[in-house]
Amino acid sequence: MSNNIHTTFHQLLKREDKEHFLKQKACVVWLTGLSGSGKTTIAVELERKLLEAKYFSVVLDGDNIRHGINNNLGFSEADRQENIRRIAEIAKLFLNTGIITICCFVSPTKAIRQQARNIIGDKDFIEVFVDTPLEECEKRDVKGLYKKARAGEIKDFTGINQRFEIPENPNLIIQTSNKSVQVCTTELLKYLLNKIKI
Ligand code: ADP
Repeated sequence: MSNNIHTTFHQLLKREDKEHFLKQKACVVWLTGLSGSGKTTIAVELERKLLEAKYFSVVLDGDNIRHGINNNLGFSEADRQENIRRIAEIAKLFLNTGIITICCFVSPTKAIRQQARNIIGDKDFIEVFVDTPLEECEKRDVKGLYKKARAGEIKDFTGINQRFEIPENPNLIIQTSNKSVQVCTTELLKYLLNKIKI
């Protein structure tokens, strides 16, 4: 089967051509952290601020992806891996279109984040640890999932009965507990501006 696949990447316009058109350098901003840590909230605000500053970005968010392209996947180990593989491949498509791609996924293990990094490429992968303590996430309980997990209604919930492996060497750590969304997003934007300026 793979013998019959003939890719046309070499015939297409290059990423640099599109970056030039968009007046920006592309990258993948990979937000990792517990459920309720603030990944989506920061991503939404970052997208808005980027547009204000005339940068073009897209947000890929866990639930949206599981609602659509990955709606045939569950939470088994194999399905979690496939979930991330597809997400990383999608992120790479956007990256190669010159778009700043903001990904919000719990991505709880080093292996999963490494898998995404391998697909996307080391130099374009910006790992951002949204560092909010479990107690704070549980207090926020935005989606009521911690309550359900504590009641035993959700198995393998990260932070409760599945470990979150702290990123060892993230590009940036954002602590959200005692800071506003605005302050956190501005920290991230400041870090990014150097990378996305053409
Ligand atoms: P996640 O996407 O990581 O699951 P969400 O963004 O859905 O988390 O939820 C985070 C919650 O925490 C939101 O209700 C948000 O308003 C609140 N929050 C409080 N302070 C912050 C902050 N500094 N940064 C991000 N979110 C915050």
